[in-house]
Amino acid sequence: MNIILFGPPGAGKGTQADKIAKKFDLHTVSTGDLLRKEIKKNTELGNKIKSLIDKGSLVPDDIIANLVIKVLSNKKLYNRLIFDGYPRTIEQAKNLDLSLKMYNQKISCVLSLNIEKKFILKRILGRLTCSNCGTIFNKYFKPASKQNHSCDASFLKKRSDDNEKIVINRFKEYLNKTLPILNFYKDQNLLHQINGIEGIDQIFDKIRGIIASLET
Ligand SMILES: [Zn+2]
Repeated sequence: MNIILFGPPGAGKGTQADKIAKKFDLHTVSTGDLLRKEIKKNTELGNKIKSLIDKGSLVPDDIIANLVIKVLSNKKLYNRLIFDGYPRTIEQAKNLDLSLKMYNQKISCVLSLNIEKKFILKRILGRLTCSNCGTIFNKYFKPASKQNHSCDASFLKKRSDDNEKIVINRFKEYLNKTLPILNFYKDQNLLHQINGIEGIDQIFDKIRGIIASLET
């Protein structure tokens, strides 16, 4: 079973990817991880990737495609992948289809966490981290109180990049880029839309239900 997970920044995609991977014994594939691992291996390709990233350049599609092929050709990971944050473009999606076919695999389902902009804003902009104990609170969903937090309120800090404009831009960019990809999978009857506003466990229950229905 190979799964693709989509979700805008702030929708809790990473958390769900980890839970799915653990529950169904899948291996998570994210572009960031693939690049970091290759850099760590100190290969020629890794060094090339590092210099591109250091320069602030985008890593070209063909390099990423090659790294994905390495994963697909790994027999230990055969049919046990969850793609997190990949494919990012329709070209990458088509490429992934071809590569999967080459290794006698396919996508079993595509999960898209849907969440409205106003919830993303509250979730991200309301986030407060205690610089003393590291606990994360949210002004709207999980406020710090005397009951759940013993540090002084002055330790609660907003993350620096959590400002509204950046969040909205990232969200719009995600929708613009992702919609065509979602339609691509919808046409193949692979797309499952999930309400991302619910709690982590409720969302995971739904995902579990979808995956279980594929296995039967
Ligand atoms: Zn604290």
